[in-house]
Amino acid sequence: MSRVTVFGSFVVDLMARTPHLPVPGETVKGTMFRLGPGGKGFNQAVAAHKAGAEVTVVTKLGRDSFAAVAEDTMRELGMDASRVLYSEDAPTGCALISVDEKTGQNEIVIVPGALNTISAEETDTLRGLLADSEYVLLQLEVNQDANERVAGLARETGCKVILNSAPYSPVTDAFLSMCTMITPNETEAEALTGVHVETDEDATEAAAYFHERGVETVLITLGQRGVFYSMNGEQKRIPAFEVEAVDTTGAGDAFNGGLLAGLAEQMTLPEAIRFGQATAALSVQKIGTTPAMPARAEIDAFLREHS
Ligand code: ADP
Repeated sequence: MSRVTVFGSFVVDLMARTPHLPVPGETVKGTMFRLGPGGKGFNQAVAAHKAGAEVTVVTKLGRDSFAAVAEDTMRELGMDASRVLYSEDAPTGCALISVDEKTGQNEIVIVPGALNTISAEETDTLRGLLADSEYVLLQLEVNQDANERVAGLARETGCKVILNSAPYSPVTDAFLSMCTMITPNETEAEALTGVHVETDEDATEAAAYFHERGVETVLITLGQRGVFYSMNGEQKRIPAFEVEAVDTTGAGDAFNGGLLAGLAEQMTLPEAIRFGQATAALSVQKIGTTPAMPARAEIDAFLREHS
């Protein structure tokens, strides 16, 4: 098994469940509140760690009480926290999440704080870590120049870059050309390529956009319809597992973390996708994001039951 790095966001999730999502100007009484660790980078790192990967998470926190939410979680889970960065003045990021308890739909506001302040000096310290990693997984939730520098360093040191292009934000062709693999959902794929992704033909067309820009492997996640992949001229859709979802927040994070763990174990791409999908299928059956990530034993049992 190879080492992997996740470079990205940590935010404190402030999550409330409500009978319906408020419309502008409306106040709704929630039925449940939970404060806990979140952020796409952190969620994906936790998912990969719990799925069995040897993962180092690089994120940036403030010097405030919310930082302890990350530190405590990493300690409890036995994660490598040695490369976490700190801002002396910007606060730890946070996210306000409302979940409709009937439909599981959500609404999210993110305040990035320290996540917008990752400097070139800080990314330069990651060269050795990237040299020791087979993959680095990035998202679009930190200042993009930091992602670009990390991708550049990764290419120099022979580390493969996986980009989970979430949440949507425009990226340059130069940045795409440094990514070995990209994992947008349908909405992000459409925003990045201009192709509305409904059928497998649409997905093939969207994938071609990324291939033309130098991305070898394209995975488009399609929610309950599963994952479409395109690599070496081969295209295929792998259906999702059928489960009863209670909270789909973080499904993409669970998928990307599980996928990374599978790739680190040298699974084939379809095997790693299936492993990521099992991770996601288990996570949507629980409330929350980081706390909903399944342990390796649960993933193995789930895959045995559904083979
Ligand atoms: P995102 O959360 O980024 O929008 P998706 O909704 O596409 O990502 O979900 C990522 C993956 O998680 C899907 O490809 C699928 O395998 C799995 N997944 C998502 N929602 C469900 C669900 N309701 N039931 C089973 N698997 C799901």
